[in-house]
Amino acid sequence: MSIIGQETFSFKDMTLVKRNKLGDKVPLELFRAIRLIGMYEGLPMHGKATTLTIGRTIGEKIEATSVNELLKKFEQLKIGIPSVIEETGKGFRVAIEDCFCEGLPVHAGNLVCDLEGAIFEGALSKILNKKVSVKEVKCNVNGDERCEYEVRFLG
Ligand SMILES: [Zn+2]
Repeated sequence: MSIIGQETFSFKDMTLVKRNKLGDKVPLELFRAIRLIGMYEGLPMHGKATTLTIGRTIGEKIEATSVNELLKKFEQLKIGIPSVIEETGKGFRVAIEDCFCEGLPVHAGNLVCDLEGAIFEGALSKILNKKVSVKEVKCNVNGDERCEYEVRFLG
């Protein structure tokens, strides 16, 4: 169920492609342009509230019934290759290999993968049927060795 507005598209709809010449792929360059130039640079406050809404709505529609399935889906969608690197009773940490931001110039102080974290958050809260918060704690663009999310179970 989407947070805002009427339900119009499902994830399944997104796979219905009928482009004879250009096929079902768009370059990473375009995805980055939308994410970083359009959203991160173009929206006020780097689009913070907006990315959260967008990400959660997308996440809730991802068809995954377990955390493992969700991790696989992240790789399949080529957002990055996630792996759980630390678990506590209160949550866990996810490291992302080959994140979409890998290779971009470093701009210290900027963590740019919040939308992808919000997608994870939306999907995870649906799978676990409880509130979770997913916070980006490391990012390649910030100069960190990789992107990382901290997942916390709330309530
Ligand atoms: Zn990243």
